Formats: sequence, structure tokens, C-alpha cells
Amino acid sequence: MRIGIPKEIKVHEYRVGLTPAGVKLLSQQGHVLFVETNAGAKIGFSDQHYQQAGATLCDSAVEVWNQAEMIIKVKEPQASETPYLRADHILFAYLHLAANKPLTDALLTSGCIAIAYETITDHHHRLPLLAPMSEVAGRMSVQAGAHCLEIAQQGRGILLGGVPGVAPGKVAILGGGVVGTNAAMMALGLGADTTIFDNSPDRLRELDTLFHGRLRTLYSTPDSIYEAVIHSDLVIGAVLIPGAAAPKLVKRDHLNHMQKGSVLVDVAIDQGGCFESSHATTHADPTFTQAGVVHYCVANMPGAVAHTSTMALTNATLPYIIKLANNGWESTVKQDDNFAKGLNIAQGKLLCEGVAAAFDLPL
Ligand code: NAD
Repeated sequence: MRIGIPKEIKVHEYRVGLTPAGVKLLSQQGHVLFVETNAGAKIGFSDQHYQQAGATLCDSAVEVWNQAEMIIKVKEPQASETPYLRADHILFAYLHLAANKPLTDALLTSGCIAIAYETITDHHHRLPLLAPMSEVAGRMSVQAGAHCLEIAQQGRGILLGGVPGVAPGKVAILGGGVVGTNAAMMALGLGADTTIFDNSPDRLRELDTLFHGRLRTLYSTPDSIYEAVIHSDLVIGAVLIPGAAAPKLVKRDHLNHMQKGSVLVDVAIDQGGCFESSHATTHADPTFTQAGVVHYCVANMPGAVAHTSTMALTNATLPYIIKLANNGWESTVKQDDNFAKGLNIAQGKLLCEGVAAAFDLPL
């Protein structure tokens, strides 16, 4: 198969769809790889590395899209990229369509096959291609939040770990999945007073066992979340209903009852965000303040640590890319129900329930 890897163009997005090692494995299996020049330049993957791995370099994005049957990307296509999409393209990337009606419309109109990393499942009902980026974003959420708590960032001047004789900061994590668990590891590692919320009692049991009682676990209800939010220094939004828009767990009105200079980090912003007051921000201008509460809502957090993230992403995606390239999309999704969950749009038809529900569209 002819496989294209364009350079990512989202603000401060330096990840690449495939490492040179991934390109090498695919080209050894007889596939033809087209990589845009400078796609990995910022993270130490030079054009020469990709060439040595067997790729053909293309000077422009349009050349990559024109040559390829399958496009491997990290982030969803941006507005300037959607005109390149053709009906015979397979697009394999993070899509987060439930938060993006214009992109949903553009993919439907193009007639392409759009497979989203984030809705593919495994035998344990987990999300194996979301997990590596969730690990990164979960770990980053605490360091981003700790930074925002500094006075110079409009924060309330709290050191999360405290010091001997001074209490540590309070962290509330909403959602105890991959992001939440990794955030909890970091918050506890810093010595913060940490509470995690989930609406799955089984998940709360697992977390209790995992952290040997060092992590406070609470069942998620509107009241329990409100109580935690108004007393916390840092609140991390990490909930997910796969494929669907994130539930708004913190209402705009809650901000008026929070401590001035406390911080909300909305990791779930890529699915529309779980705080009513959130709107997506970029690494160039990551925060805004509303009612005295600092919001950090970067939709592509792992892009800031693009070297680690690209390696972790390719580790997870490569077996799936190989399957698609070797077997084609139709036989792959026919043979594998978990892979089929990734198929969000095919030949002008919407196939993801969560996206249909978000926009009141028929399936
Ligand atoms: P996950 O499925 O592993 O975990 C989600 C958790 O939320 C589950 O344990 C689920 O039980 C819980 N949950 C659902 N509804 C809830 C509710 N009402 N109250 C409390 N808990 C609830 O998902 P994840 O991999 O941890 O991802 C979380 C979010 O982070 C997703 O939206 C994902 O797309 C996003 N994400 C964002 C970035 C970024 O750069 N901003 C990067 C990676 C992941």
C-alpha cells in the first residue's frame, strides 16, 4: 500500500505519525512510504533518517496526500488539510469528531474511510491507541497545573508538595482511567493531597488497591464533585465516554465558589471539555482566567513532549497500521470487531454512535 505521513500543522505540534523505525518495518514488508520533508525535524528524526528507513521524501503536504492511499497522522486534519481528502483515502489518526462538527461534515463529504485511534478497543474494553497519549497527558497535567499555581501565572501561590510544617496542595482528579491514574501517580509523587473521582465502583476499587490507600477515592456525583472543586487548588478533568462529548461535571457557576487562583486543567478538552467554562487553547497561549480561576485547556498536550509522545504513539499504532496496510480496511474491520470500533466514517456514512449523538445525526 502507498502510505503518506504529512508534517503536522497544528500549533506547536511536533509529533509525527510514524518514527523512522516504523517506516522501516513497513517498507520491509513491501509498502511504499511518502514522508513530508522536515516532518520529524524538531524531534531529532531527520529527513535522512526517514530516507535511510526506505521513505520517499515529498516537498509538500499536497504531494504526500496525492501519492498516498492511506494517510497516517497524529492530530485530526486541520481546515487547510481537509480539501486534500479523497474518496479513496484511508485516514488513520486521532479524530475526536464529537467535538468537531465541521470536520465531521468534511469527512462525510469527502467519502473517505476515517478510522479514529481513540475509539479502537481491545479485548478488555480499553482504548489501546488512546492510552499512550493519555499516559503522557495525565503525567503532564500535574506539571502544567503546578506551574499554573505559581503567582506569575495568576495562580494562588501554592506549592503542591507543601514543605515540612506547611500543608500540601489539594488535587482533585475527575475520571480514574488512564489520564487520571497517571495524574494521580504524579500528584502523589509530589506529595499533594490527592482525591480521584470515578462513576465506576469497580474502577475505584482497582485504584484503591493500586495505590495502597495513599489515594483518596470518591464516587462521582454532582455533589461530591462540587464539594471537592470548591476546596481544591488544582482540579484535573480526565473523564471520557468513548466517542461521545465529555459530560460537563463542573458548572460555570462553580467558579464563583472556588478559591481565587485555583487551577482547572481540562485534559478532556479534546472531547469538548468537562468544565462548562473550558474552551480549547494552544501551547502558544495555553491558559485563560475566568472568575479568578486559571484554566489550562490545551487539546494536544503530548505535542509539547513530542519526542517521547511520537515513540509511545508508534509503539501502539504500528501493529494496527501493518494490519491495515497488509489486509486493506474492509477485511480488517470485518475480521476484527475491536478494530471496527475505530471506523467513524466510511464512504459518506457516519458509523460512530457517540458522534451521531453529539450532533443529533442518524447512523
Ligand atoms: P479512560 O477511558 O481511560 O478513562 C475515563 C474515565 O472516566 C473512566 O474510568 C470512566 O469510568 C470515567 N468517567 C466517565 N464518566 C464519568 C463521570 N461522570 N464521573 C467520573 N468519572 C467518569 O480515558 P482516558 O484515556 O483517561 O482519557 C480521558 C480524556 O483525556 C479523553 O477525553 C481523552 O481524549 C483525553 N486526552 C486528552 C489529551 C490532551 O492532549 N488534551 C491527551 C490524551 C487524552
